[in-house]
Amino acid sequence: MIVVLKNETPKEQEENLINWFENQGITVHISKGEYNTVLGLIGDASRIDTDLIEGLEIVQNVTHITEPFKKANRKFHPDDTVIDCGGGVLIGGGHFQFIAGPCSVESPSQITEIARAVHNSGAKLLRGGAFKPRTSPYDFQGLKAEGIELLSEAKKETGMPIVTEIMNANHLPLFENVDVIQVGARNMQNFELLKELGKIDKPILLKRGLANTLKELLMSAEYIMAGGNEKIILCERGIRTFETYTRNTLDLSAVPMLKSLTHLPIVIDPSHACGVSKLVEPMAMAAAACGADGLMIEVHNDPVHALCDGPQALTPEQFDKVARKVMAIREII
Ligand code: PEP
Ligand code: MN
Repeated sequence: MIVVLKNETPKEQEENLINWFENQGITVHISKGEYNTVLGLIGDASRIDTDLIEGLEIVQNVTHITEPFKKANRKFHPDDTVIDCGGGVLIGGGHFQFIAGPCSVESPSQITEIARAVHNSGAKLLRGGAFKPRTSPYDFQGLKAEGIELLSEAKKETGMPIVTEIMNANHLPLFENVDVIQVGARNMQNFELLKELGKIDKPILLKRGLANTLKELLMSAEYIMAGGNEKIILCERGIRTFETYTRNTLDLSAVPMLKSLTHLPIVIDPSHACGVSKLVEPMAMAAAACGADGLMIEVHNDPVHALCDGPQALTPEQFDKVARKVMAIREII
């Protein structure tokens, strides 16, 4: 249930109402917008008399939320959420960011060279996999703890906050210096992992699963938010279809649909969606045009010899061109 309070409701009366709800065993999520305060009630609100609440002097209106996601719901929080990814790098609510870097961290020179290049092209966040979810157990699995160390070095050198994927909650102590923790497509419904991430105070980049609906993506965000961590960035990275020319099918309609359903920022990953480097530029531009809050793009200084996802990686020069074109689209819209 959502209770919208009238403008200029006295603080004391607002607090009295919140206390009254809490005494009924309801958790109250407060969202202060520019014009209104919205109270989102979480818990068994069936005993609450809607007519009674609606009749209160300070209440503008009462709405019932039919969707199963509450904290992620735009009705709970009408304004866009803006997330500080570290170092004052903001995403959401009009703040657009490029998250760029290699699929996997491979060596000190590889990550620092790429970090410097993408930073010069306007990327404010550095990505790089340290723990890699690979389809084959015989493929490169990532440099693990050492990979995170190397990302931290690149962060020191460029000042860029770092984004890297977690696959096991037991690894959390290694992520202390990581600014944004990525949950990959394969772990989108690893509910035990999501619950652990709900207990920490770091932004989470939550990627849509290969075969998951937008409702399921929002319910996974809700798992993290229910635990208290409301800093979620959603990421559409392509879903499985019958098409084979592309690695996945980029569902760009996810952007406007999610924008209407949730207040959380949404970024597009055209690299994993397409799997082919030449498609990254047009899809990145389309993502910016339809209102995405950012782009996650794989960049490698030597794509042919990349240990993971070389065919979809842009060179730093190609990334520079894409970043310029995307910014031009942003100017137009
Ligand atoms: C990645 O970002 O490197 C990755 C593995 O992505 P996804 O989980 O979307 O496949
Ligand atoms: Mn990759």
